[in-house]
Amino acid sequence: MKILRVALDVPLPKLFDYRIEHATEREIGRRVVVPFGNRRVVGIVAAVGDASEVPPDRLRAVHALLDDLPPLPRDWLALARFAADYYQRPLGEVVHAALPPRLRRPEPLPAVPEAFALTADGRAALDALPARSRAKRELLQRLAEGGPSPAAEIGRSAALRECRARGWVAPVPLPAAPVAFVEREALTPPQREAAAAIRGALGGYAPFLLLGVTGSGKTEVYLQVIAAALVRGGQALVLVPEINLTPQLEQEVRDRFPGAAVATLHSALAENERAAAWLAAHAGRTRIVLGTRLAVFTPLPRLAVLIVDEEHDASYKQQEGVRYSARDLAVYRAHAAGIPVVLGSATPSLESYAHARAGRYRLLSLPERAREAARLPTVRLIDTRSERVADGVSEALAAAIEARLARGEQSLVFLNRRGYAPVLVCNACGWTAECVRCSAHLVVHLAERALRCHHCGHAEPVPRSCVLCGNVDLVPFGRGTQRVEAALAARFPAARLLRIDSDSTRAKGRWDAMRSQIHAGEADLLVGTQIMAKGHDFPRLTLVGILNADAALLAADYRAPERLFAQLYQVAGRAGRAELPGEVLVQTRFPQHPLYRALAAHDYVRFAEAQLAERERAGFPPFAFEAVLRAESKALDRALAFLADAARAVRVPAEVTLYDPVPMSVARIGGWARAQLLAQSGSRRELQAFLHAWSAALRERARERGAAGVRWHLEVDPLEF
Ligand code: ADP
Ligand code: ZN
Ligand code: ZN
Repeated sequence: MKILRVALDVPLPKLFDYRIEHATEREIGRRVVVPFGNRRVVGIVAAVGDASEVPPDRLRAVHALLDDLPPLPRDWLALARFAADYYQRPLGEVVHAALPPRLRRPEPLPAVPEAFALTADGRAALDALPARSRAKRELLQRLAEGGPSPAAEIGRSAALRECRARGWVAPVPLPAAPVAFVEREALTPPQREAAAAIRGALGGYAPFLLLGVTGSGKTEVYLQVIAAALVRGGQALVLVPEINLTPQLEQEVRDRFPGAAVATLHSALAENERAAAWLAAHAGRTRIVLGTRLAVFTPLPRLAVLIVDEEHDASYKQQEGVRYSARDLAVYRAHAAGIPVVLGSATPSLESYAHARAGRYRLLSLPERAREAARLPTVRLIDTRSERVADGVSEALAAAIEARLARGEQSLVFLNRRGYAPVLVCNACGWTAECVRCSAHLVVHLAERALRCHHCGHAEPVPRSCVLCGNVDLVPFGRGTQRVEAALAARFPAARLLRIDSDSTRAKGRWDAMRSQIHAGEADLLVGTQIMAKGHDFPRLTLVGILNADAALLAADYRAPERLFAQLYQVAGRAGRAELPGEVLVQTRFPQHPLYRALAAHDYVRFAEAQLAERERAGFPPFAFEAVLRAESKALDRALAFLADAARAVRVPAEVTLYDPVPMSVARIGGWARAQLLAQSGSRRELQAFLHAWSAALRERARERGAAGVRWHLEVDPLEF
């Protein structure tokens, strides 16, 4: 008898033992169906042993060891183990989060043949078949002349079924098609250098930071590197921050690599599609995988290069369950696999930039736009303390829009606030409309005549009068996209206006439709939020106006300037992508602020150096390592008390600082009060050791005393507070 140690999706940091008649180490990485309580669940075999600490009478037998797919490779399990360890979660939870949902169900997968080939019997039968068996003759003929054919092309005909039953045709693995790479324009000298450096590093671990201004042609560098990886027989994994960005990149990749099997992986795929894409990658058939953060867990037996595009993007951080950073896991994975990893961005995270500055990552720069005619846009700072501003739009911006309309070019007015106005205020007593479940203002949405909470989704009608004093003079205060849209419509009645925010693009296909409208020149004036900032190329867009950016400068979060700079840099980068020169107007009350000065000069490095100096002085990341313990409860007191108690649960080593428990910046969401406790250390290793001891102690306490109405979790390397 043998023991299988199985990773199950159970919130306990341990493996579960089951007995089985025969098993060897080869079973590691297999899916297994086991009894758990009175259910049957899927687990992954993490180890095989001879003995168990579970008493024999309580040791249950494996229900079924599935062999419907090759075992998950060792490096995949190692990645899951690392993530579990680093982010303080059970291995089983990580493993299950990393599997496509279809594979988490306790059922074997149906065998789907990839291709069919003619057997020796089939060849003999071909000559003997009578002429009236036309369909069968055609099928056998095709396989005799064309060799093995993909199942997808042959279809599921009666002839195929009959030929298989007689043993004339048999399923075979799909033969790999030769991969070609289509070269386009000649590379610019910086592109050539960057591509050569990365290509030269294939075959060993090498982290690169590709710092390229918007439009510098980072994609082309990625494609060159992928081509080299494919020539060596390898696979490539490309991570992108958003599902929205996959179709364009996928098309480009398919056009440039005819014959290569390409798969996309993201959470919006249908269950079967996602399982199929994952399995094809696992089988080594797929050569290029494009995906969002969850794709970092794709098993790839011949992975040769890993690329993380827009590596600074916050969506690489998973915000629930296993709170991992896909970018950081990508670097770990590349290290473990001994392959290059390329982190690309115009505005890298300060963490990655600091690595490059310290020589741990190799810095590759693309300082110019790739297309001959495309120049970086000029950035003008409009001082709203002295300029005339009407309805949020300065004279200078209005004049610039006017000029674009006259020339038939497009303008974008950017502000990061959807809805009509962020607050509804009573002019008599100062009452403001607040969400009953969150500590947040309700946002006025005039189009639906509703007040909406942007944290919990709560909606209510706009009141006719003040709830406190009865005054009917309620005024929307501040500006959101709907209000700016209305103001621009009044000011430029002839312009074709398009508002692009998460409200106007919510319906499926809306954003695609809007994008084609913009491309076709069927819109003159766009009002948009950060949806507009990312990765899109609109050749007629020559003006970007930025409203209301100052608020982020005053935020308490030390990462706010980093996020603001990245966002403004990205949105500014939408202007003048093609032949027409671009212009960016930033309306601000602080035109002398170093962040805006660096933005106007397109100088990421200046901005990053200044920020790093400040962070170093204050002892913030990347000069320190952080984790937070978060607690949620119906009452804030209880959450704070839980944290205060948690702080006393273990001895805190001298190298780690625990701060006082504090309410989070949005202290209540959906009726839950939220508080947190920050742990900081100058040493990642010391912090990790402390977190292990701490989370074990906290789980022990929870087991003894119960949850008492408090939900809690640890987050390592938090991005938001
Ligand atoms: P990034 O991702 O760095 O912002 P892209 O990869 O989107 O930039 O490239 C910007 C534009 O430049 C694209 O339209 C691309 O086709 C074009 N481009 C890239 N490389 C070259 C090149 N070597 N010569 C001419 N055009 C190029
Ligand atoms: Zn009032
Ligand atoms: Zn709310």
